[in-house]
Amino acid sequence: RASKSTHRIFLPHLVASLEQVEQSYIMVKPDGVQRGLVGEVISRFERKGFKLTGLKLFQCPKELAEEHYKDLKAKSFYPTLIDYITSGPVVCMVWEGVGVVASARKLIGSTNPLQAEPGTIRGDLAVQTGRNVIHGSDSPENGKRETALWFKEGELCEWTPAQAPWLME
Ligand code: ADP
Repeated sequence: RASKSTHRIFLPHLVASLEQVEQSYIMVKPDGVQRGLVGEVISRFERKGFKLTGLKLFQCPKELAEEHYKDLKAKSFYPTLIDYITSGPVVCMVWEGVGVVASARKLIGSTNPLQAEPGTIRGDLAVQTGRNVIHGSDSPENGKRETALWFKEGELCEWTPAQAPWLME
């Protein structure tokens, strides 16, 4: 009986939002890990209401960094970018939710931290483009691509946070 009423309450909520659910690949870069900002970053995404489905501390091999940033290969800063991303462990995450990709970009702020608005992660916690603490996917397509690049299938978790019906109607 209890499970029946649970279904009546929870199921429409899950079905309604299923199609709009996106994945964003979020990564605390080596400077963020070294500066002890991992908890701060995770906390901001948790408090916003997104769902964590993947999380690991990881030393990124050069080949993976090159694949991840392949669109920037022609840029003058590309070699230093690869050195930076592979210079120490990163924290790889996948956050899920309706509109998570664009919202994460807003939470993160502009690429250049000096231009990032106060209240954003880069605006509050960083000063230089070459040490801007965090990565976030720039489109839902790249969210999927980057998730597949950084995580194996078995590393992701499907789950329903207890707060789900209190977060969305
Ligand atoms: P974002 O990370 O905000 O999506 P981009 O995709 O343009 O920004 O660049 C990817 C990353 O490359 C940046 O987050 C930053 O670490 C690095 N980067 C971009 N532009 C520069 C630059 N002019 N000098 C040094 N590093 C840069």
